[in-house]
Amino acid sequence: MATAFAAEPPARWVRSEIRTLTAYHVPASTGMVKLDAMENPYPWPDDLRDPWLQSLRNAELNRYPDPEAQELKEKLRELLRLPPGADLLLGNGSDELIQMILLTVAGPGRCVLAPEPTFAMYKIISQCVGLRFVGVPLLSSDFALDIETMLEAIACHQPAAVFLAYPNNPTANLFARSHLERILRASPGVVLIDEAYHEFSKATFLPDLFTYPNLLILRTLSKCGLAGLRVGALVGRLDWIREINKVRLPYNLNTLSQASALFMLGHARVLEEQIARICADRERLAKSLAALPQIKIWPSQTNFLTIENKRHHDLVDRLKQKGIFIKDLTGAHPLVEGCIRVTVGTPEENKLFLQALASVG
Ligand SMILES: *Cc1c(COP(=O)(O)O)cnc(C)c1O
Repeated sequence: MATAFAAEPPARWVRSEIRTLTAYHVPASTGMVKLDAMENPYPWPDDLRDPWLQSLRNAELNRYPDPEAQELKEKLRELLRLPPGADLLLGNGSDELIQMILLTVAGPGRCVLAPEPTFAMYKIISQCVGLRFVGVPLLSSDFALDIETMLEAIACHQPAAVFLAYPNNPTANLFARSHLERILRASPGVVLIDEAYHEFSKATFLPDLFTYPNLLILRTLSKCGLAGLRVGALVGRLDWIREINKVRLPYNLNTLSQASALFMLGHARVLEEQIARICADRERLAKSLAALPQIKIWPSQTNFLTIENKRHHDLVDRLKQKGIFIKDLTGAHPLVEGCIRVTVGTPEENKLFLQALASVG
């Protein structure tokens, strides 16, 4: 008798690009000193908790959110000091905006180009939407762009999109402005400058929006202190933003995130003070680390330090056993083999990290 079901196994239908991927894994870190994910270590101050909760009292969770997040957009326009004519698109984290850009330009035979190592989601999402990913290695001496090779690759591959993290993750450095300008002029497709660490570097291409017709700029509230809200912002000219907005899912920003972000951005001073503290603590931490043997610190314009470790190949595991959770960059790219990435925590957390590092020898 014939079987009642015609279903074939997933391997028959799941695209090969998806089958070769592994799901993005975030290891458990409960109870540990969490220095792996570039989060701001400071919680929202006690005296603002009640007013914040008050601002959520009237949230109507039986209704869909404002589909355009109008109020939050207005607040961000003001805070980002967007030039007139610049348009804004919000995402559920900047990750969602990266996905929206790539969905917009995906098509047979097309590719995305980025230096490597860089933020992992550029490649992962490219693969998910069927775009070929072309990576151009950074220079090993200082993680600067290999600009001539980048320009040759752009001319050769004609990428639909070029992605540049400014400053770069996981190498913590800012690329030369003049290099980015050359890439903007040479690229036939869109050029995304991802300013996820803007609050720490202060560098930006926002004033250049009307110089380059293919420039898009990405920002996020995650690294400056609101990672749990999942709010990212894409800034660009109307002609690009209008097209990308077509692939946005309706109601992509939930009601509670919209209201919370609006409230917290109304107290942006709190975040600014925390960021200043993190930058000062980063310098202190870098100094303490630089004094240790077999450790090299790369310069950082972010809230994390990239560290070359010549001590133990299993240093990250040893630290984990001591309750310190950081990111192992080994395996991410040959240029960061033997490197670790540590987020700047509170002074107490940084001290615990340094003590654990000393105790594992
Ligand atoms: C963390 C990070 C992001 C993602 O941020 P979300 O807004 O939390 O999705 C994007 N780009 C870079 C370079 C990052 O380091």
